[in-house]
Amino acid sequence: MAMNNDNILEVRDLRISFGTYAGEVQAVRGVSFDLRRRETLAIVGESGSGKSVTAKSLMRLLPEANTIFKGGEAIFDGRDLLKLSEKQMQRVRGPKIAMVFQDPMTSLDPTMKVGNQISESLRKHLGMSRAKARERSVELLKLVGIPNAEERVKQYPHQFSGGMRQRVVIAIALACEPQILIADEPTTALDVTIQAQILDLLRELQEKIGTSVILITHDLGVVASVADRIAVMYAGKIVEMGTVRETFYDPQMPYTWGLLASIPLPTADRSQDLIPIPGSPPDMSDPPKGCPFTARCPYAMRVCPTEFPEYTTFSAEHKAACWLHHPMAPNVEPPARVGGTR
Ligand code: SF4
Repeated sequence: MAMNNDNILEVRDLRISFGTYAGEVQAVRGVSFDLRRRETLAIVGESGSGKSVTAKSLMRLLPEANTIFKGGEAIFDGRDLLKLSEKQMQRVRGPKIAMVFQDPMTSLDPTMKVGNQISESLRKHLGMSRAKARERSVELLKLVGIPNAEERVKQYPHQFSGGMRQRVVIAIALACEPQILIADEPTTALDVTIQAQILDLLRELQEKIGTSVILITHDLGVVASVADRIAVMYAGKIVEMGTVRETFYDPQMPYTWGLLASIPLPTADRSQDLIPIPGSPPDMSDPPKGCPFTARCPYAMRVCPTEFPEYTTFSAEHKAACWLHHPMAPNVEPPARVGGTR
């Protein structure tokens, strides 16, 4: 399968549903994006936007019993990840594409010393000897900033703080120097100072190892300093995509404006700054035909609930789906709190 050589992964028209008692829930509805070599792409959206389902589908970690794969492809290394057998996926998952989850304890075995957990991956995927894997485990703990690594390899996960445990998980994920690291809300369970440290670490390691990173988060505020590009997801669709600069300084649709307005400003009285988006996302067992943000959008027009808008392109990287860009739409400026201009 031919790929643009700048890309490590190409996702096209991904569509995934879940079978539930309430009927079919359409979690991902035609998502397409490229992941470039050595970049960090942030996929941002509220809970239920389809961002984690998208990420887990690439690792084939969705529950088989109720996942309904409706279509699309995810080309990595010339092969469609979505069509690989479980045996083939086992050679991809870990050594080639690794994942870090929100709660480090879901990835760590509480009964096993952390050094053994790192060594296991090195021995299994890279065929290292026990001694070499042990030595490399210490190096990896140092690489992720764990002090006294020679002693710490002999300890169990419960002897580490939450932030340190997430560092161990990152060490395991990067042990085989994967081509892609998917980090799904890697800092959500951590306090703010530790969050920043983990994000800085991810950025530093991404530059050092050359891994491409997909960073999944509900918090647009955390991606500014670590991501190269941002895809904003809402109700199973990418509604805006651009570089970090374009998304922060020239956002082009009301949902992105809402996300930006809900980022706390670094001022004394934060309660004055934070403007949450009113309302809640649509019921995905019966998603709206048109723009899914209609019910919450202060700028909604008659066309919005009936037809999903085409993407409007603003630069080589920047596009957004919103009827406000139709030539006949009224000219609307983003709220002052957001700061961008249309
Ligand atoms: Fe709002 Fe309509 Fe744009 Fe959707 S398409 S974000 S409802 S203006």
